[in-house]
Amino acid sequence: MPADLLKEIEEEVTLLLSDLIRIDTTNPPGNETKAAKFIAEHFRKEGLEPEVIESTKGRGSVITRLKGTGEKPNLLLLSHLDVVGASPTEWSVDPFGGVIKDGFVWGRGALDMKGMTTIEMMTMKLLKRNNVRLKGDLIMAATADEEKGGVFGANFLLQKHPEKIYAKYVLNEGGGMAIPTKEKNIYTVQTSEKGILWLKVRAKGTPGHGSKPDSADNAIMRMSRVIEKFGNHRAEVLLVPTMKRFFREIINADSNLEQLSRILDDPELSDQILDKLGKTRDDLVEEIRPRIRMTATPTIIQGGVEENVIPSECEAVFDCRMLPGQTSGQTLKEMMGLLEETDLEKLKFEKIQVQEPSESSVDTPLYRVISTVTREFEPSCGVTPIMMTGGTDSRFFRKMGSTCYGFRPLCPDLPYGELAKMMHGVDERISIQNLVFGTSLLYEIVKRFLSQ
Ligand SMILES: [Zn+2]
Repeated sequence: MPADLLKEIEEEVTLLLSDLIRIDTTNPPGNETKAAKFIAEHFRKEGLEPEVIESTKGRGSVITRLKGTGEKPNLLLLSHLDVVGASPTEWSVDPFGGVIKDGFVWGRGALDMKGMTTIEMMTMKLLKRNNVRLKGDLIMAATADEEKGGVFGANFLLQKHPEKIYAKYVLNEGGGMAIPTKEKNIYTVQTSEKGILWLKVRAKGTPGHGSKPDSADNAIMRMSRVIEKFGNHRAEVLLVPTMKRFFREIINADSNLEQLSRILDDPELSDQILDKLGKTRDDLVEEIRPRIRMTATPTIIQGGVEENVIPSECEAVFDCRMLPGQTSGQTLKEMMGLLEETDLEKLKFEKIQVQEPSESSVDTPLYRVISTVTREFEPSCGVTPIMMTGGTDSRFFRKMGSTCYGFRPLCPDLPYGELAKMMHGVDERISIQNLVFGTSLLYEIVKRFLSQ
């Protein structure tokens, strides 16, 4: 029996998101306090007791708690208030106008992630209004600064006010979008994130005149060998639990993907199998490849100042993405191992930023509730864990021992590729239908997880 959508909240949730989009929280500078206060105001009217906490002037987050009896672990509904910039000339509507048209709410943050903030707010409000007896605390936190690393938001709160924000279970962004396949939609739950190692390499040489190449030791030439080695490196294939389960779920949903089961049997065959599948499904293969191994992408190069001078220095930055289980130390060692034939003494390595990878198990009561409830709303659908190649605030919570899932339910009323492009892109929007769908699912998931 399909579950019922909460049609009655349609207008309320739509206006709430439109209002929130109109509060410009472009980061930098963020100025999230305005949005945090807006949410606090709404919650106070509902009889809730929100608290706005600033990490520094203007960088506010809002935390609200619905007390439970303590029979069950706590659950945190997490979201971020800041958004990335938008240049109005590229958009067909004002990105900060909160425009409602053609059945959609348009604007920066509609998907990433004020839409989810709104859905989480509605869930809190409804639980309060309906006097639902909770067995564990439900916390909602809408935080500053996610888009720039979370230092002034989630990480600050976890470090300074863990008693206010920490929960054993966390629901956040990163999944929830359905992948349409031949037979059914597969809803995604983000259970894993790759880690980041931004590695700066400095190559030294001896300067000389550009007219006499042999008279000098050209740092650009040295760096080009490093780039060649790193950029073409195909690291060992490693299938983490999230990816194993992902393969099983998508094979289940689409018989044309049966060949992927050979990757599970023998990961070393991955490239061969993906090359073949890529001829018909390059969209899917493009998504799989970076999720089965560490990658290293050259992203910045600087060297030389004058046309006729052979430079003695060249710098490059590599964006390395590690899988759960891999560390930055191991990764650096692996990279340096590729350069055995290069003069290592003329190269310097510096880790300019490290974010550890993270993964949560799917073998939990919360994952089972997400999976069950989603299937009640769309009986024929599939549910799969996914890994993100980028990071979210979930990594801070996983580090503290929380089980975190990214789940912002979104049925595919626009093509998958188009939805993915809108985040940080132009004409970002969410359908009113999806706001209702998302609220209905989240409300049911939270209610069932915390009250039964
Ligand atoms: Zn986001």
